[in-house]
Amino acid sequence: MKLLEYEGKALLAKHGIAIPLGALWPNCPASETGWVVKAQVLAGGRGKQGGILLASERKEVEEKAARLKGTRLGAEPVHAVYVEQRLDIAHEYYLAGFVNRDRGCVTLMASASGGVDIEQVPKSEIDTVDIDPLIGLAHFQIQRLRRALKLDPQLDKCVAAVVTGLYRTLVEEDAELVEINPLVLTRAGQLLAADAKIALDDDAVSRHQDRSGPIAWVTDSAFMQRCRALDVIGVDNRGRIPSPARPTVAILGNGAGLTMATYDQVALSGVGVAGAIELHGALARGVAHTADVFRAFFMLDADIYLINAFYQLRSTEALAQALVQALDSPGVPSRERVVVRMRGVEQHSSEGIVKAAGCFYSPSLREATERVLALARSLARTAKTAS
Ligand code: GDP
Ligand code: MN
Repeated sequence: MKLLEYEGKALLAKHGIAIPLGALWPNCPASETGWVVKAQVLAGGRGKQGGILLASERKEVEEKAARLKGTRLGAEPVHAVYVEQRLDIAHEYYLAGFVNRDRGCVTLMASASGGVDIEQVPKSEIDTVDIDPLIGLAHFQIQRLRRALKLDPQLDKCVAAVVTGLYRTLVEEDAELVEINPLVLTRAGQLLAADAKIALDDDAVSRHQDRSGPIAWVTDSAFMQRCRALDVIGVDNRGRIPSPARPTVAILGNGAGLTMATYDQVALSGVGVAGAIELHGALARGVAHTADVFRAFFMLDADIYLINAFYQLRSTEALAQALVQALDSPGVPSRERVVVRMRGVEQHSSEGIVKAAGCFYSPSLREATERVLALARSLARTAKTAS
């Protein structure tokens, strides 16, 4: 999960890294040096796209915040506008750390050429340091990063605070990536994180139950929020599937094993998986609740919806009823695009209900998968003829 800049900065500050004074619009920090008005989007390159605006008067802040609020930056929605005290920048540096799966450790990166053109900086100008997870960050490594930043030895203590803070943010917050670009040296000689890009490890959410306040989880999709509210397990692949992988399938199953096996079967057949839901005992909470889970399922942006359920104790008929209830709601996909495989208790009556609703039904996973692939092929053909 990616965090917005202001959420990331709150985490950096918690670990002792200095950040500029800032507030979420319509709040505005006191400043004698003017302000920076910053669009909060889940992508970088805001500076180049007009998402970072300078203002020298309060009225200007208001105008520029209004201009950014509720709009889009490229394809990205602006979730909020963050207003900061403007910094008097002497130099911009790059400092980042990430969980390096290839090397099995956290790797820190530093460059004296930070700022909006970091992508153009040659690799030779970015130093990397692997941190042994058993030893942790050592003093000589901080020294090495300070030299890579070409910062004066007088700033040793400041650099140590920033590097240690960044490393602790990664480890203690279970982040996958923490990037400060730019790390700013002001003319007054202060080192501050002027930007923050943080991605947290989704699988570690349960270790941070205390997170609230500035970490608003706003970066979660509406689908994932809904899954949490309904107490079911959701997978949202939005943004992870390359766009040519269309058409895509969303999967709903009961039981982690069956759901993941279905997921794998679909993925291996070459169709993109848009996301999945594991019912997680939803049926025990009644038909109405299960219908809500189906509505959440239909929030996934997919071309085809595959349901694969097997119940030996509960009635598949209740599941079929919940599906039909959900299909009567506004904004759900057309019924031809819903493929159902159900087996178990009262299978025959559920077959009747599903077919009467106009969805494809088969008790066989093979037939259901073939149907999914046939639909995918015909959708791909229509897409081709349309373009
Ligand atoms: P990004 O483009 O999304 O990475 O947004 P950043 O927050 O990194 O801002 C982009 C650029 O705007 C920075 O590299 C700075 O050059 C400039 N900038 C950001 N904050 C300030 C500030 O307080 N004062 C000044 N003068 N420039 C700033
Ligand atoms: Mn930046």
